[in-house]
Amino acid sequence: MANVESFDLDHTKVQAPYIRLAGVKTTPRGDSISKYDLRLLQPNQAEIDPAALHTLEHLLAGYLRDHLSDVVDVSPMGCRTGMYMAVIGEPDEQGVLKAFEAALRDTAAHDRPIPGVSELECGNYRNHDLQGARQHAADALAQGLKVQETILLQR
Ligand SMILES: [Zn+2]
Repeated sequence: MANVESFDLDHTKVQAPYIRLAGVKTTPRGDSISKYDLRLLQPNQAEIDPAALHTLEHLLAGYLRDHLSDVVDVSPMGCRTGMYMAVIGEPDEQGVLKAFEAALRDTAAHDRPIPGVSELECGNYRNHDLQGARQHAADALAQGLKVQETILLQR
C-alpha cells in the first residue's frame, strides 16, 4: 500500500486542540494544495459523538470558508477527534490558526438552524447535535489552540 502521512505522526506526543500542516502537494501545473489537521480532542483519550461531529462538519464547512480563502474540503476524521482541511496554496500557519479560531467562535455561537439539514441536502439529516457541536467548539477555544509541529514516529 502507498504510505499515508498521518500514519507517521506520533499520536501520543501531540497536544490537542491544535492545527497541524500535514503536507503540501504540488499539482502537475505547479499549484500547491495544503492539507491540515484541525484537531479538537486528544487522540485516544476522547472522541466526538457522531451526531455532534456531523454538525461540526456542516458548520465548519461554511464558517471556515468565511475566514479562509480557497478552502477545498473540510471533512471529519474517522477517529472522531477532529477534521481534515485541504486548501489551495500555502497559507501561513498563524493565518490558518486565526481562521479556525474564528470559525469555532462562529460555531460556538450558532443559534440558527444547521445549514444543509434536510433529506434533500444531507445523507443522514436526522443525525445531528447542535448543542454538542457548539460545546466542542467552545471547549477547544477555552483550552486554547496552537500550531502543532509534526512529531514523527520513531520506527
Ligand atoms: Zn450531512
